[in-house]
Amino acid sequence: MKIRGAVLTAAGAEQPYATSQPLGIQELHIDDPRPSEVLVRVEAAGVCHSDLSVVNGDRVRPLPMLLGHEAAGVVKAVGSEVSDLKPGDHVVMAYVPSCGECPFCLADQPALCTPGAAANGAGELLAGGRRLADAAGQPVNHHLGVSGFSDYAVIDRSSLVRVDDDIPFDVAALFGCAMSTGFGAVTRTAGVQAGDTVVVIGLGGVGLSAVMAAAAVGASVIVAVDPVQEKRERAREMGATHLATPDDAAQLVADVTGGARWVFEAVGSAAVLAQAVALTGRGGTTVAIGLPHPSATLTIPALPIVAESKTITGSYMGSTRPQIDIPAMIELWRDGNLPVERLISGYRPLHEINEALDELASGAAIRQIITPQR
Ligand SMILES: [Zn+2]
Ligand SMILES: [Zn+2]
Repeated sequence: MKIRGAVLTAAGAEQPYATSQPLGIQELHIDDPRPSEVLVRVEAAGVCHSDLSVVNGDRVRPLPMLLGHEAAGVVKAVGSEVSDLKPGDHVVMAYVPSCGECPFCLADQPALCTPGAAANGAGELLAGGRRLADAAGQPVNHHLGVSGFSDYAVIDRSSLVRVDDDIPFDVAALFGCAMSTGFGAVTRTAGVQAGDTVVVIGLGGVGLSAVMAAAAVGASVIVAVDPVQEKRERAREMGATHLATPDDAAQLVADVTGGARWVFEAVGSAAVLAQAVALTGRGGTTVAIGLPHPSATLTIPALPIVAESKTITGSYMGSTRPQIDIPAMIELWRDGNLPVERLISGYRPLHEINEALDELASGAAIRQIITPQR
């Protein structure tokens, strides 16, 4: 069938993107779903910093690529082997497909699925190959198995989580990336407990999700760090107890925690990660969530790692098990403990995707929602 999607053909365009138009809205052909796949009508797709990183070249992906990896929609058709989803079901997309058979999947770590990561890196679906082609018949790559900046998508069954029909699509979409990554980092990778002290550096969608999660589990001190005042204020609404600019963070964290138990880096900067390690207290853990540039290297004082028993750990997709953890997060949202709506800073039709990237790059936006059906 024919679809409309936002395709990146070359990375590194000049800003503003509203002028350079790195994402072109193209009419594409999409194949029918293979036996393990599902055709989804996309109702809402969040614009995430990881999309921007592909556009500006920080994250190198095979091109051309139909971007978008945080989305929700309605099942339109299922492949012959898909027995647990049916047309009309509402689904959230997770950005790592999982094979169910590799050592990581068997160890309950589907976010690290080896074939899933290989398919994502190649711009393919888990079953192999691409289902998208441009007007000239050339294959177009999938973005993290989702490609949600489109009116329809063919997606591996393992990338989809069924959710109740009454959950708004804009909220549902955010569970796929921002909430999985931020909430998962706090609750799954770290295991923050009630009474712990927490610092979150970088208050985009993922960082604010981490703040929400820390508040939901009862952290006693939550220091939210960002240069943008409006983002700091939003963090306060989501449960941060203290706010700091990057320059003020060291003094404030020392004053209110004496060295934090957990420090989450949600910027994706090696320099900020080094600062995060410095803010981490004795026996504490630094959790790296943001994706740094592939050429970045981390330089930190070595002694405190031993003498103060500090830990540095990475967190990909928040160590989330999408099929288990997304429904659990949705229950917390239903109970009023995860104000996910507050991440949403605006809505745009698909053809304003480049303007949405400009707004994200400027630091003004948290999560803009693309509505491909409007
Ligand atoms: Zn994302
Ligand atoms: Zn696997």
